[in-house]
Amino acid sequence: MQPTLFSTLPLSAAMLTNLDRLGYAKMTPIQAASLPISLAGDDLIAQAATGSGKTAAFALPLLAKLDATNRATQALVLCPTRELADQVTQELRRLARAEDNVKILTLCGGIPMRPQRASLEFGAHIAVGTPGRIMDLLDVGALDLREMKTLVLDEADRMLDMGFYDDIAKVISQCPRDRQTLLFSATYPPGVEGLAKQFQRNPKTVKVEAQHDDTKIRQYFYEVEKDQRLPAVSLLLRHFRPTSTLAFCNTKAKCKDVLERLQADGFSALALHGELDQKDRDQVLIQFANKSCSVLVATDVAARGLDIQGLDAVINVDVTPEPELHIHRIGRTGRGDESGLALNLVGMNEMHWINKIEDLQGRECEWHPLDELTSSSNEPLIPPMTTIQILGGRKEKIRAGDVLGALTGEGGLTKEQVGKINVNDFSIYVAVSRGVAKQALAAINNGKVKGKSVKARLV
Ligand code: AMP
Repeated sequence: MQPTLFSTLPLSAAMLTNLDRLGYAKMTPIQAASLPISLAGDDLIAQAATGSGKTAAFALPLLAKLDATNRATQALVLCPTRELADQVTQELRRLARAEDNVKILTLCGGIPMRPQRASLEFGAHIAVGTPGRIMDLLDVGALDLREMKTLVLDEADRMLDMGFYDDIAKVISQCPRDRQTLLFSATYPPGVEGLAKQFQRNPKTVKVEAQHDDTKIRQYFYEVEKDQRLPAVSLLLRHFRPTSTLAFCNTKAKCKDVLERLQADGFSALALHGELDQKDRDQVLIQFANKSCSVLVATDVAARGLDIQGLDAVINVDVTPEPELHIHRIGRTGRGDESGLALNLVGMNEMHWINKIEDLQGRECEWHPLDELTSSSNEPLIPPMTTIQILGGRKEKIRAGDVLGALTGEGGLTKEQVGKINVNDFSIYVAVSRGVAKQALAAINNGKVKGKSVKARLV
């Protein structure tokens, strides 16, 4: 067994203190397997999924080599999507707190390039972005990778699925040869192997089984007739009353139907789908993660790469024909030592998929009749929090602590009534207990945050 204490690694005392502060008591399996290799400077292929702690697995070696007194870009993290890039940046910022003034920029497409070019003029120690935009910034000379020490390919399989091979190759052609290259991928298809062969030097491979401790997840299966499926979702929610539920559908059309039905039944539900623009998508995710929305309805594609773990329940509105995907879906439930709940609705025509799931899990599925579900209470399922959007953010130098201060100071809220605070460049989203939302909103609109008057609204 590998040692699991961070203190067994060659990390600075400041970093160890910071990890401790972040509550990282021990290494996750992928961290324990990969950090001794990556901190020694070797190239790495790591097979690890979202939620495994992979971000810290590449962030620690990258930060260990960083010289904050040198303003040149010393690390580049390539990600398939903007959401993942945002998550990576957030985690990097938390981990970089041990060092003074490490500047990290997210550089993704879908938004104008000019502000990114302007930010780059001040230098960025670490760039996190999607391959297309990084390449564009290199093309116009806004980004310079000549002093780059660490290259990270995050979710390499997904980047290739999205057709980023050429862009990745072009970006790498501008990186120094003596760099360290860390490749992370949930799967290892031939395309990723090719990428590794072409762009890494004697990489060491580590793999951590995606299987979770399945005794932790209670799985119930329900056979449904065609016209029972949508009402059954509401029935499950009323019966089990989970605070946060991710509901998976196999198609976008089904997502839409489920969403409409849940909203008509009085649930606070949102959907994640391709037609949302980036801003709306971010808002949906923020509201779900901060517990202002009870149910998020999504397809596998829409949910991929999202850092939404530790949910009370996953509902498979449709079971998936791919058993590995089933394991991946239900792995999002179960928080720490608490058990999770995976509820599965299965039509007659989907029964043959169940055999494959049973084979992979090595045990039989537990079936329950739908009519066993009773709405223990007719009370609607109401999310505990409400989201307030503050117009003003990082660009105005407002931090999470300033918002917390305003709400608990003059606002009169207790610390417990303030939930997650998401700080973006131009706006901040703060979750507050539903019962004190109006009071909190008034406190912000009538008072000051960090000495400034700001506008706020309920999302
Ligand atoms: P990731 O797989 O990088 O998206 O990480 C999933 C979550 O686990 C993130 O919220 C991390 O902050 C958290 N995390 C990563 N490493 C550790 C650790 N060693 N101990 C506790 N939490 C961790």
